Amino acid sequence: MKRDLQLVIVLLLIVCCSLVLITFWKVMAARERALSNVSVNGANLTQALVTYSEGIMRQSSTLLNGMVERLETDGFGPAQSGRLQSLLQIQHRAMPQLSGLTIYDKEGNWLLSSSSPGVLRFNSSDRVYFSHHRADPSRDIFIGPPIQHRSNKEWVITISRRVDDERGDFAGVVAATLGIRNFLELYGKIDVGDDGAISLTLANGQLLVRYPFREQDMGKDFSQSADFRKYFLGRDSGKASFTSSLDGVERLYTFRKSENFSLITTVALGKKEALRNWRFEALLSLTVLAVLILFTLGTGWVLFRLIKRRIETQSQLLMARQQLLDANEKLAQLAAQDQLTGLANRRCFDETLALEARRAQRAGTSLCLILMDIDLFKLFNDTYGHVAGDECLQAVSLAVARCVRRPSDLVARYGGEELAVILPDTDLEGARQLAAAMQQALAEAGIAHAASPCGRVTMSIGIACMSGDEAVLCAPSIVEVADCALYRAKAGGRNRIES
Ligand code: GH3
Ligand code: MG
Ligand code: MG
Repeated sequence: MKRDLQLVIVLLLIVCCSLVLITFWKVMAARERALSNVSVNGANLTQALVTYSEGIMRQSSTLLNGMVERLETDGFGPAQSGRLQSLLQIQHRAMPQLSGLTIYDKEGNWLLSSSSPGVLRFNSSDRVYFSHHRADPSRDIFIGPPIQHRSNKEWVITISRRVDDERGDFAGVVAATLGIRNFLELYGKIDVGDDGAISLTLANGQLLVRYPFREQDMGKDFSQSADFRKYFLGRDSGKASFTSSLDGVERLYTFRKSENFSLITTVALGKKEALRNWRFEALLSLTVLAVLILFTLGTGWVLFRLIKRRIETQSQLLMARQQLLDANEKLAQLAAQDQLTGLANRRCFDETLALEARRAQRAGTSLCLILMDIDLFKLFNDTYGHVAGDECLQAVSLAVARCVRRPSDLVARYGGEELAVILPDTDLEGARQLAAAMQQALAEAGIAHAASPCGRVTMSIGIACMSGDEAVLCAPSIVEVADCALYRAKAGGRNRIES
């Protein structure tokens, strides 16, 4: 029963743990799915944006390469300036994303510009792209950090190329400027949520443009940022999750590097926002889990109480049953016992005699019966009184009972002051010896009987002995035989044994 209780507790624990584990596993799997969706969508988006920015850059670099080739072939003295100016104008119109196309001499002075056809007094020798080309003989395209346009203050990205003279020395720079509004317009059309951001960065970590646009972010350099170095540096594409150093919002980033230009396009979604639906579902799952666990525990508690009550009832029943058995045993004992002497009573004697007679028949053994009667007991009562008579009876019973050793032998009070001993599997000689021993024991007890010729209490004994076959047929008559023998003992002068 205790095991039932333990089983209920173990079962409850298993059910609750399983529920928790399954829910946890489901919730975490849903989270993984949500994050994976974000990164798949992000990857597709970055791919599309990379294609866009690569397209613009390729167009710009083709344009610059053409311009440089012409400048290096024809030179850019005053004779060519008219033709070059109109060429700049044509090119500018052909590519509406351009905010300007400018030619600089080797001092950084503006020679020609598509945006300002008049007299030019600007000098750009302080610009990064100019110093880069002046110092670096490479003829590759250079994409510089964003700058603010000198005339209209617009933020632009510069793409430039060095121009050499016929000796291969630095002769100037041709630069195209792309207004970042081109990118911001496109980025603004993409739904990245309230916390989302899209950015275009140089591969070295220099921020070119970021949506949503904030003036203070322009010109930011992430090259020393731990997150940039950890997730972006040296990789072609990937994903990351960290808190932005610009605005402190935790985002899920997907990025891709352009194959032909050192540009990284990054799409980032606010982590909280991306997991909003998941969080709602998780909360729902946890609520259902809590209800289920409460229900399971409630049911378990009821079951526990029921089993406990059943255990208590059963143990009470068992106790009552044991008490009943004890009482029955006591009753059976009382029903078979003589109250005065403590020996078996007449009823027990009759049942045992019949039982032993049948057993003697089955086993083919002999059965003996000793019948004894206290001599002149009436006189004893008369002399010493009835109470003393009772005590005398008790003493005689004790002396007789002590002589019996075998558990199968039964000493009973047959009637008033008559005792009987059933001796299964005993022959006549054995019965005689026992009878003699009983007489001897009574003599040793030495109970005074002044009215008796012996001066002490004596008894006469009659013995009957039968073989198995006779015994079963003559169970009642064995008593008669013993009684006859007893009569003879009385008649023969008492304190004798007859068989
Ligand atoms: P005998 O057997 O030697 O012929 O003489 P007796 O005096 O013993 O004669 P009998 O057996 O006929 O007498 C039995 C007497 O035993 C009668 C009764 O007063 C007495 N008696 C029987 N049962 C009890 C008992 O339980 N207590 C007492 N005190 N006396 C009893
Ligand atoms: Mg008698
Ligand atoms: Mg007698």
